[in-house]
Amino acid sequence: MIMNTEIKQRADKLHHLINKYNYQYYVVDTPEVPDVEYDRLFRELQQLEAEHPELQTSSSPTQRVGGAALDKFSQITHALPMLSLDNVFDTEELQAFEQRVCDRLNTTDTQTFAAEPKLDGLAISIRYENGILVQAATRGDGTVGEDVTVNVRTIQTIPLTLTGDNIPEVVEVRGEIFMPKAGFDALNQAQTAADKKPFVNPRNAAAGALRQLDSKITATRPLEIYCYGIGEIQGMDKPASHSDAMHLIASWGCRISPELKQVKGVAGCLEYIKQLGERRESLPYEIDGVVMKVDDTVLQERLGFVSRAPRWAIAHKFPAQEEITVVEDIEVQVGRTGAITPVARLKPVFVGGVTVSNATLHNEDEIRRKDVRAGDSVIIRRAGDVIPEVVQVVLSKRPENTQEFVMPTHCPVCGSVAEKEEGEVVLRCSGGLYCAAQQKEAIKHFASRKALDVDGLGDKLVELLVDEALINDTADLFTLTVDQIASLERMGEKSAENLVTALQIAKETRFNRFLYALGIREVGEATARSLAKHFLNLEALEVAEAQTLIEIEDVGPIVAQHIVTFFQQDHNREVLTKLLDAGVTWPIEEKIESDSELNNKTVVLTGTLEQLSRSEAKEKLLALGAKVAGSVSKKTDYVVAGRDAGSKLTKAESLGITVVDEATLITWIS
Ligand code: NAD
Repeated sequence: MIMNTEIKQRADKLHHLINKYNYQYYVVDTPEVPDVEYDRLFRELQQLEAEHPELQTSSSPTQRVGGAALDKFSQITHALPMLSLDNVFDTEELQAFEQRVCDRLNTTDTQTFAAEPKLDGLAISIRYENGILVQAATRGDGTVGEDVTVNVRTIQTIPLTLTGDNIPEVVEVRGEIFMPKAGFDALNQAQTAADKKPFVNPRNAAAGALRQLDSKITATRPLEIYCYGIGEIQGMDKPASHSDAMHLIASWGCRISPELKQVKGVAGCLEYIKQLGERRESLPYEIDGVVMKVDDTVLQERLGFVSRAPRWAIAHKFPAQEEITVVEDIEVQVGRTGAITPVARLKPVFVGGVTVSNATLHNEDEIRRKDVRAGDSVIIRRAGDVIPEVVQVVLSKRPENTQEFVMPTHCPVCGSVAEKEEGEVVLRCSGGLYCAAQQKEAIKHFASRKALDVDGLGDKLVELLVDEALINDTADLFTLTVDQIASLERMGEKSAENLVTALQIAKETRFNRFLYALGIREVGEATARSLAKHFLNLEALEVAEAQTLIEIEDVGPIVAQHIVTFFQQDHNREVLTKLLDAGVTWPIEEKIESDSELNNKTVVLTGTLEQLSRSEAKEKLLALGAKVAGSVSKKTDYVVAGRDAGSKLTKAESLGITVVDEATLITWIS
């Protein structure tokens, strides 16, 4: 087949881009594009080379391990090359991998694989001679790596001396150095506080931390290791399987993944991938897939390797949590408390399992730091249920004539002056409940599930009611008539009647829900509950002073001041009177004199509960006088672990906190 120049040009372009991205990622630890973008280009080049083998030269990035050793470090030639891994993205490709393995081994037997998480960090080779750590090197270009021995010695989870039996003369342990999520978050908070650029992701932060010329800096960074292989070994035969090798090095004190498991065939791999995928978010470190290795050492040797990767291993990548897309516009939104938040309107992009078309840019400082502009290509990250965020701008793709974004001086909804309180980063509309945006958000909050829980009063309907001037505040809801509601667009008589009924039902509430529904700044559910428990009635709370308030659990000086200010405002007092006149009521609170052993105990719920919903369990525990917290700390008394409990359970175990199952929880609350 004659190759046309267009194909050749495309291949050249791909070489150029991949080499550039390799340099940014491996050499200077500042990737510019998300991994998926890199993977797409890499695959496109592989595909072109498969169709036009003459393109597959030895200088092609598909034939090489994509790193390089920086000459600011001494260089170390690896005794055995440190290779990369081939990737698969779906079941079909995984099946094709097993088929290739079977074909090469000339067998139809189901293969036994060792499965491990694919950690997102950087590869390291650590050489022990007679059990003593003598050298540590990065992967580099696979043949020559960087000498980072001094830095590696500062990592607590790497033994300086191997202990145990039968330690060989020489053993080179290979593994992944990574930064756990919590350490990464703390490091980035410190970076931001010190006005330094935050790291893009934990992988990058780990690479930067390890490749420091000053090992004192490395020592301060929260690095960890999981070992996943053996390189050179002298004075001992190589263990019979990968699993054996891992258990052997673990017996010498090397840290291996607790997730290591033997699985059978593609079916076993798929089950492992599914189970680990479900726990991906709750693991304390980032993983980007699963690695499957033919377990048997003899078979591994028979299979061998190609230029950049072994034939006996494959990485099955998880769906990407970072994608690239374009910011079509930047708008500002006004929230319930008047906070003016810039929001990026995005060209819709599928990431982290959903289509994302908006991402918050938080505040002026954040937008300035990232310099996000309309027209920019940006990396979007969405992991788990976390709100999508803009990680960074891809500057090389910035079009000409973009404008720096400027925050408005006035509220875009009501025109009031936008102000920033001293020491705050958030810009706020000064219009208070005069501002239609704040009115709408306050009413939506009032009607929401955890507040008065008005069935059938969705966000769109609230907006319509305010826009049509049928309501201005929360109390106006109770004056609405069936006719008024039915006159609105797309509202029938029946749904109008239902809404009026729902409003009647919602009037009977609980004191804590009512307090939460008022939307006092920084008074969330837990604070509302503490206030209700302490004051028992509204009259007492209305006149409480800041000094009294700060005595209460969950109330600090700032919240106390917000509460005092709220009850001092004339318009808030008017609305309160209107609400009570409309018939909003709650049963009189009685002091909880619980004799339950859970009284005043802090409980954390984690994992999936089978017989109760989370909110049911929480309400019942609260009724017994317990405090239900969202995270595990030394102050936690009990952790209730449901199915598939993850990092909270691990943390509880490490802190020695009592862990109980759902059955115990049910005994407590019944
Ligand atoms: P890889 O990350 O796909 O796989 C090989 C590496 O996986 C090994 O070197 C090792 O460090 C690691 N690994 C983690 N857990 C392992 C385990 N249990 N067993 C064995 N190895 C394990 O390959 P690579 O060559 O290091 O990098 C290529 C990938 O890096 C790309 O697919 C892309 O995702 C990313 N990349 C991104 C950019 C960018 O600009 N965003 C540039 C270059 C590379």
